[in-house]
Amino acid sequence: MPVPGGNGDGIEGRPSHHVQKTSSFLKFFPRARFQNPWSTWHEPSLGDLISMLLGTWKSREKSFSPKLIDHPYPTREDLRKAFPIFPPDFGKILKPNTSRVQATWIGHSTVLVQIGGYNILTDPIFESSCSPIGHPKRVVEPAIELDDLPHIDVVVISHGHYDHLCKKSVRALHQKFRDILFMVPMGHKEWFLNRGMKNVIELDWWDEYEFHELKFTLTPAQHWSMRRALWDRNRALWGSWLIESKGKSFWFAGDTGYSEELFDEIAEKLNKPISLAAIPIGAYEPRWFMAPQRVCPEEALMIHQRVNSEISIAIHHGTFPLTSEPLDEPSLRLKTSLQEAGLDESVFKVVRHGSTVISE
Ligand code: ZN
Ligand code: ZN
Repeated sequence: MPVPGGNGDGIEGRPSHHVQKTSSFLKFFPRARFQNPWSTWHEPSLGDLISMLLGTWKSREKSFSPKLIDHPYPTREDLRKAFPIFPPDFGKILKPNTSRVQATWIGHSTVLVQIGGYNILTDPIFESSCSPIGHPKRVVEPAIELDDLPHIDVVVISHGHYDHLCKKSVRALHQKFRDILFMVPMGHKEWFLNRGMKNVIELDWWDEYEFHELKFTLTPAQHWSMRRALWDRNRALWGSWLIESKGKSFWFAGDTGYSEELFDEIAEKLNKPISLAAIPIGAYEPRWFMAPQRVCPEEALMIHQRVNSEISIAIHHGTFPLTSEPLDEPSLRLKTSLQEAGLDESVFKVVRHGSTVISE
């Protein structure tokens, strides 16, 4: 039976994001298990993919080369000046206030979240590039090196794209913290087991898991997954994570496009404000291709408002040059949209790598 708003055939009696086969050219790769069930999602056509590749080729710019608004070809020094690392406050990190939520931005989507006396990492990547081919390369070093981390109890993974699930980083974390728990969206558990990481919990959207005094919920996102090639596209689920403890909450938005239906659903089910959220603002151009899967800064602000986040921090920008917009554009656009909305910059913070933000 077709799923309203989805792009594939749903499965009777199962949630609308579970799918039997996808439409479009992806039907030639019929192993997809999941889809986005909202009308805001469009599966790219083969023509879209070709146009995208041709556009990149025609622009005659090296793919993955970092750009700044005032420097089309910035040097390492220009990039260092544009994104100076804030020296992490290890006083706060080693002794967090357990009645609040504390988040330290390490870079890209890697955040050290401290809640209820536990330390959690989101989508950890500490490598110099975010793909097996060695590109794109990071332009800002991790604000905290893996060896300098406090004890990590849990890692949450939003999806399997290489800039979010880094094999070397999760392996190193597993080596260093032998009891570490990996929380992953459905379909990713096997990947961890095959690599010797046995302490893994995989959840479907809206499934919950209690870990001591923490409650983890895999909340939805409008995105997709692919690791090696088209044939594993959408075999594993993607998502965002809600972590709750003693009336406080942290929400990690993962990688997502904008959908009113989706974020209204999250707000309705939560039915209370989020204490602190990490929301992506970068890697959004060209919009005609990226809009379904990635938000632009203006949409990131709409997410912040729609899910009732009390304080948000900007992530997924300023670290890896993934798309064609200048690396310093997302933060400027977010600040402008905050001004236009009459909101203070303190409600959706653009922080330097290494900064720590604490909830109310
Ligand atoms: Zn992604
Ligand atoms: Zn990403």
